[in-house]
Amino acid sequence: MSRIRMSQSMIKDYTDYRNKSLCGLYFDARWISRTHSSEPSEAMMMGRWFEYLALGPYHGTAGSEYGMPSGDLPGGFKAAGRKAVAQWDELLSNPWANDPIKDEDVEAHWTAKYVNLWYQAKHLRSTFEAYGIEVIDVQKKIEKDHGKYDRVMVWDVLAICHKIPDPSYTRKPLILAGAKEDGDDLEISSRPYLEPHLAIIDVKATGLIDDKWKPYGWAQEGLEYRDKLMIQAVDYMDQVRDIKGEDYPSAFYFFVHSNTNSKDRKIYQIKPSQEALDQHREKVEYMVTDLEFEIQTGFIPYPSLERCQECPLLTTCEKAVYHPQIRTVYLTGSGS
Ligand code: SF4
Repeated sequence: MSRIRMSQSMIKDYTDYRNKSLCGLYFDARWISRTHSSEPSEAMMMGRWFEYLALGPYHGTAGSEYGMPSGDLPGGFKAAGRKAVAQWDELLSNPWANDPIKDEDVEAHWTAKYVNLWYQAKHLRSTFEAYGIEVIDVQKKIEKDHGKYDRVMVWDVLAICHKIPDPSYTRKPLILAGAKEDGDDLEISSRPYLEPHLAIIDVKATGLIDDKWKPYGWAQEGLEYRDKLMIQAVDYMDQVRDIKGEDYPSAFYFFVHSNTNSKDRKIYQIKPSQEALDQHREKVEYMVTDLEFEIQTGFIPYPSLERCQECPLLTTCEKAVYHPQIRTVYLTGSGS
């Protein structure tokens, strides 16, 4: 049996499996027996390119340790031809060198979404500068042995934030702004910037920056209920707390960028309560026990025509279905 390695992605998949919206055979192949490693989707590839463009240079020598994403160059070059691709390959190994890639070349050769990511990467770098974000590390994998399982996280950026604007800052005198006289109203701050603090920053590129309906939509309205997004923040902060101790000062930010235009971006600071962190820890421990049981008894397949047609295990899977299942509709009398 492979060792259980709990990551936020695995937690999300296991939750889906428990809700019967993910097939157990696929879950097993991906996370337990690890006979399948999933190919990145186009959205994931774009995310990797964005991270590389935005953060690669912070690793010292871009294209070395951090590494360009493998696979196709951005978004299918507009028929750039092999020679041009080779030149780009060299340029992309360090896009921010003394003679960096030029905007006009990007616009001429990259497809629209990648052009957007190019400009968004520039925006992110300029925001880091404006907010005094001192990058300590990028793309770091942290693992901790918990006896019968490991917990794993990969943070995009660990940084000291020197000059993040305080969202509750008011220029009005505190008393006029509604603060209590003893100054204990936490919603009102007289400081323009937050105290310098250590933070994990996750950078995102998305086509859903204003979407409030989809599980991966980034509209602020209802964001606290979109577990598929929030779980990463809770999981990482809990792991930091676990490794560094309860009082370790830390914050978690999502820097979100649209890939459908080159302008829209948002920053969310996620602040899980102590209770939320404790509940998450309990959930992880419960999942491990549950998983051990599933590993002993075998994961339950949940085949369906739609699911199997999209599944990367389709060609080798004995439980795959190729025809619609029969759904029964019961009719009763009106009872009148
Ligand atoms: S092909 Fe269907 S049954 Fe087989 S692992 Fe995929 S979803 Fe499950």
